Amino acid sequence: MQYRLDQKSGNRLSALGFGCMRFPRSITIDVAKSERLVLEAIEKGVNYFDTAYVYGGSEDVLGEILRKNNLRDKIYLATKLPHEKCKSYEDFDRYFNEQLRRLHTDYIDYYLIHNVADINAWKAVVATGLEKWLAQKKTSGQIHRVGFSFHGVQAEFLRLLDAYPWDLCQIQYNYMNENYQAGQGGLHRAYEKGLPVIIMEPLLGGKLAGGVPKKALRLFNEANPDTTPASWGLKWLWNQPGVTVVLSGMNAPEQLADNLKTAEIATVGTLTDSELAVIEKVRAVFEESYRTPCTGCNYCMPCPHKVNIPDCFAAYNASYANGFVTGMTQYLTSTNVLHSSSGLRASNCVKCGLCEKKCPQHIKIPTELAKVQKRLEPFWFSALLKITQKVM
Ligand code: SF4
Ligand code: SF4
Repeated sequence: MQYRLDQKSGNRLSALGFGCMRFPRSITIDVAKSERLVLEAIEKGVNYFDTAYVYGGSEDVLGEILRKNNLRDKIYLATKLPHEKCKSYEDFDRYFNEQLRRLHTDYIDYYLIHNVADINAWKAVVATGLEKWLAQKKTSGQIHRVGFSFHGVQAEFLRLLDAYPWDLCQIQYNYMNENYQAGQGGLHRAYEKGLPVIIMEPLLGGKLAGGVPKKALRLFNEANPDTTPASWGLKWLWNQPGVTVVLSGMNAPEQLADNLKTAEIATVGTLTDSELAVIEKVRAVFEESYRTPCTGCNYCMPCPHKVNIPDCFAAYNASYANGFVTGMTQYLTSTNVLHSSSGLRASNCVKCGLCEKKCPQHIKIPTELAKVQKRLEPFWFSALLKITQKVM
């Protein structure tokens, strides 16, 4: 395993971190599968594990795995304060104590303020006494290092960097998002300030791994048939000195194995000019293929009107990236419209706007769903449903 230095604490963090938001699940998390992955990752040297209060069951499962296998002190544990839920000073302790209980621990190595949208959101939570609370927790040793995670625009990220003596930050970054959200400019500034930078969405919710358009796949294979698309994406990140830990939401042993292999060899400056040029061409293919920047994070769900928002966008994107028939097949399957007349389809959207506020990618969800409907529910769609529902 390659390790990168957290200059502020002296901790040596594994370049590959485990993103526990995407533990394997059907409806709930598959605990046995998650445990096998976590144990294998730790055995191979992964020492940074990231979760959050709002990652539906993730803290409980991770905590139980660590407790059962006596692993708590062998890893660095990162979790996040759901600051938007904190309406009073007492709420900080209430959520934090619940997190300690879920995680079976009495300290958190890296505690992040979750998804601080902008400087005003930060000022609002500071007004509730957050800075005083964090200082007390650091003094008591219950929190070792304090950071924030971020999905807003670069100007706000730069303001936030100077708003508090942070110990780390976490940003969305990958070769498709070089100039999106905090972007490369934000990464460089954080690095100059000596902050370890934790990368989330390194493969854009799996799009840069399993969702690569056929044309882009050909470009990768021509350049190097032995390197997977995921490995290209991670190499692009580890090529940069400002990147400390790359969080990957690994939910299958093959993904873990592939990422571990890449983490061994992909150090700063290892990508050649010709490899960087391949990524540049792949980026152009993605730009023409992918219409909606949904990462499948599920933050917008559930929709009260039964729209499966992330799967609608995944099918819509697939219909451009891999052809209309592929996208339509995916749409019919994931929205369950062939089995149920209500289905979970885009046309159920009544534009209430509830989901939009929760989207870290700032997608105008109802507007984009209208485009999904136009493309994937064409004029013959209801006739198709009538026929198939009669047959079934
Ligand atoms: S805007 Fe549409 S998709 Fe979003 S919550 Fe409302 S009905 Fe659901
Ligand atoms: S629409 Fe936004 S919130 Fe919903 S899954 Fe996609 S990226 Fe996440």
